Amino acid sequence: MAQFRKKPVVIEVSRWFKNGDHPLDYSETHDGFENGEMRRFPPEERKAKEWEGDIVRYYRNPDDSGTRACQHCTKTMHHHGWIDTLEGGHIVCPDDWIIKGVKGELYPCRDDIFRATYDPVDAS
Ligand SMILES: [Zn+2]
Repeated sequence: MAQFRKKPVVIEVSRWFKNGDHPLDYSETHDGFENGEMRRFPPEERKAKEWEGDIVRYYRNPDDSGTRACQHCTKTMHHHGWIDTLEGGHIVCPDDWIIKGVKGELYPCRDDIFRATYDPVDAS
């Protein structure tokens, strides 16, 4: 059988611990209500108010208990996020890495797998 080696690819990552941690979570102005009035909320104000992030959203599932312990990290589901991926969507555990792939796609990766798969790029 012919042998191939996977090409080394530099990826961008950020680690997610809680809502608002992704660097692109507050990059747009959104409409919202305050004191019964709808107005525009710019990114910095949305971040200061700790609104739900745009990239990693709240994990909400009407068929799943938010107080259940996650089978991967054992933290309660209330502390998890949700990210849209090319495969439809994925739960994000606190401590997961969010990887930006070669086509700009975003997906989560567990810390142990991330450390076994990637080395840091020397920025110098
Ligand atoms: Zn988890």
